[in-house]
Amino acid sequence: MAQSSDGDIFGDIERSIKPYRQDFPTFSRLPEKGRDKQEIINLMNSLYSREEARWKDGYVSGAVYHGDENHIDFLNNVYAINSQSNPLHSDLWPSTTKFEAEVVAMTANMLNADRVCENPQSNDAVCGVISSGGTESILLAMKTYRDWAKDVKGITEPEMIVPTTAHAAFDKAAQYFNIKMIRIPVGADFKADVTQTADAITDNTIVLVGSAPSFPHGTIDPIAQLSALALKNGLGFHTDACLGGFILPWADKLGYEVAPFDFRLPGVTSVSIDTHKYGYAAKGSSVILYRNPKLRNYQFYTITDWPGGLYFSPTFAGSRPGALIATAWASMVTIGERGYMDIAKRILETGAEIKNGIEEIPELYILGDPLWDIAFSSKTLDIYKIMDYMAERNWNLNGLQHPPAVHISQTHRHSRPGLAAKFIADLKFAVQQVAKNPDQETAGMGRLYGMAAQIPDKAMVDGFLRAYIDMLYKV
Ligand SMILES: *Cc1c(COP(=O)(O)O)cnc(C)c1O
Repeated sequence: MAQSSDGDIFGDIERSIKPYRQDFPTFSRLPEKGRDKQEIINLMNSLYSREEARWKDGYVSGAVYHGDENHIDFLNNVYAINSQSNPLHSDLWPSTTKFEAEVVAMTANMLNADRVCENPQSNDAVCGVISSGGTESILLAMKTYRDWAKDVKGITEPEMIVPTTAHAAFDKAAQYFNIKMIRIPVGADFKADVTQTADAITDNTIVLVGSAPSFPHGTIDPIAQLSALALKNGLGFHTDACLGGFILPWADKLGYEVAPFDFRLPGVTSVSIDTHKYGYAAKGSSVILYRNPKLRNYQFYTITDWPGGLYFSPTFAGSRPGALIATAWASMVTIGERGYMDIAKRILETGAEIKNGIEEIPELYILGDPLWDIAFSSKTLDIYKIMDYMAERNWNLNGLQHPPAVHISQTHRHSRPGLAAKFIADLKFAVQQVAKNPDQETAGMGRLYGMAAQIPDKAMVDGFLRAYIDMLYKV
């Protein structure tokens, strides 16, 4: 990315996120006569081929978690067969209902539930639902705890205690559902601080939260201690395993040191786990699991006197894409334990290679002790400039803040032979560039992060973010 001479950062951003205004037709109102289907397919193929290389070749952190051609073709086929299905009409598509129940059961078993919800009447069996993604799973869980605490304990001013490194979805839940968010700074190891969490508990606390692992630093919170604390105080405890749920069970079996984070711990009352990340399903599905059906019941919505009929919905949505539930099911039953273990092995080995490579670069250090989602920074150089030089070499990494850092979240796309070595070579190059010319401005996301860090007025940064969203909706 060349540095813009006029310093028009917003102009540069707009050009980079709206690259098709010149070469492709734009529709801001319906075409009077429908376009030819083949023309539209050609157009989409052309857009696809422009975008495909970056993620397919493994230059992107996270985003595409499997992405092998034959797996994509298979999911597309599954989607096509199920494209009309909607679990809102369980009488029309009992197939989708079957897929959903089985995805939930398989996931619960993977996370060491003693019993799964085969018999919903029993109140000691792990159960759950499929949502549209990790964020929805977390929102649903927090709403569930709010309603549970109100019903069981009469809490009307609920509070949740969350480590600062927990996903933004928890903050979103607090905003949406009027829950007071108590944020606890993590320790020097980037893990949740159990003592400070204990000190923050009040009569209004409804739930404690931990990540396995966290999105920013890939570190696993002390889930055993946090969930024991919740149990002792009669609180809910949510493990956010959106990122790690489909990796950690296999890492454990492969001999990596993985402390329990799931239903083996009696204090864990819910877990979010993303089928659309390392479950390798198409985007748009996640599982939210609860310790028992009684708790899950607080998530459900029902209305008995609506003129539109006797109505209910298990999640936020009404109609839901049955085809995405089908891809989650099909992905799980075709990959199987051995398949998940094989891919996890390669991801973890690549993670170790990248970790070792970073540790050998004296200007850099790794935050915490991650397995495969690796955050790094520098005590002497501007890490955001390093991020921009990495972008010049095609790497799409994630910027982090508090402290400034960058991470790469490894997926199956990074298992390509030689890619980890290429990453390290490019990282050495980027470090050299910044070391040689520390004052040289760069262009890209790093520059934006650098600027945001300099602005003391966070309302201004908030304004930028909102302007960015507005820009996305410009035709
Ligand atoms: C990705 C992620 C989420 C949110 O998931 P979405 O599917 O993007 O909504 C939540 N927690 C963690 C740890 C994640 O990595």
